Amino acid sequence: MIENKNWLQKMELNHPLVIAGPCSAETEEQVLDIANQLKKTDATVFRAGIWKPRTRPGNFEGLGAIALPWLKRVKDETGLLTSIEVANANHAKLALEFDVDILWIGARTTVNPFAVQEIADALKDTDKIVLVKNPINPDLELWIGAIERLQKANIKNIGAIHRGFSTYRKSTYRNNPKWQIPIDFKNRLPEIPLICDPSHICGEREGIIDVSQTALDLQFDGLMIETHNDPDKAWSDAKQQITPNRLQEIITDLRIRKKDFGNNDLDKLRKQIDLIDDKILDILNARMEVVKKIGSKKKKDNVAVYQQDRWREIIQKSIDKGTNLGLSINFVEKIYKSIHQESINQQEKIINLKNS
Ligand code: PEP
Ligand code: MN
Repeated sequence: MIENKNWLQKMELNHPLVIAGPCSAETEEQVLDIANQLKKTDATVFRAGIWKPRTRPGNFEGLGAIALPWLKRVKDETGLLTSIEVANANHAKLALEFDVDILWIGARTTVNPFAVQEIADALKDTDKIVLVKNPINPDLELWIGAIERLQKANIKNIGAIHRGFSTYRKSTYRNNPKWQIPIDFKNRLPEIPLICDPSHICGEREGIIDVSQTALDLQFDGLMIETHNDPDKAWSDAKQQITPNRLQEIITDLRIRKKDFGNNDLDKLRKQIDLIDDKILDILNARMEVVKKIGSKKKKDNVAVYQQDRWREIIQKSIDKGTNLGLSINFVEKIYKSIHQESINQQEKIINLKNS
């Protein structure tokens, strides 16, 4: 049988991949101190930013190539794999020259197909692992497009990192996770390992464990967590960094769900879901048939399609019943808005049809 394992399966870890290390490399001592502490944790890969894409000028923008030999020392002295962000062809070439193991394309670079193409060309045919962070805007096609550019350049060891999406108003998150997007990503590209970066999703250290747990529950393949020997004094992203000790505590506390129940239970439950889904569609269809009858009546009597009082009544009774059953208001509202919209569309079709 031909071995067709991806780069992560070849690592043969018995736990999700952990990539950890500072947001930015600051000094040789800082880099080596953190790496030596991480060696005692479940982290396999050391990360450090050396070119930092900052939103506004005037902040620390990374030390640049001067830090590359420090990463070489990390690899030689701790055995950890090393990883850095690359944002252009020159960064990519330097990373290859200094034998960095994993290169990642940052969120601000993934948005730009020219930059991604330039990096793909510079890394053509490489065996290095290249990870693509999601673009800062919630655009699945752009994320997948970046992966395709790497695949076309014959880069075989590719992965993706979910780090959340920018929003105009800051919510509880620094970058909104919008979990449906990485779920869709996984469905579209199941062979590409998917790693979650809870540090950049949260923007503060307290939320990291919960976001990591959600990622593992959704069967992400690993975590990238910013880790610093003195987080509060970090030169960038101080609020979201944690110590190597805290990292290990978090890893130990996380529950790793089995991929499968290991027996027929999962199949049985899935069959139940399939049957219920069939019923949902049948019921929606039955509802639409009645909606169409009402549409014909409205046409005959020249009555407007949208009836505000009736809609208020429907949404209110659905929310009351739904919340009594334990469904969230948000969920019931979304479903009913969508059903109502479809009903309006169907009735408009009937009303605007000539000769009926
Ligand atoms: C980083 O990982 O330090 C970084 C800059 O991340 P992002 O590209 O997700 O903003
Ligand atoms: Mn950072």
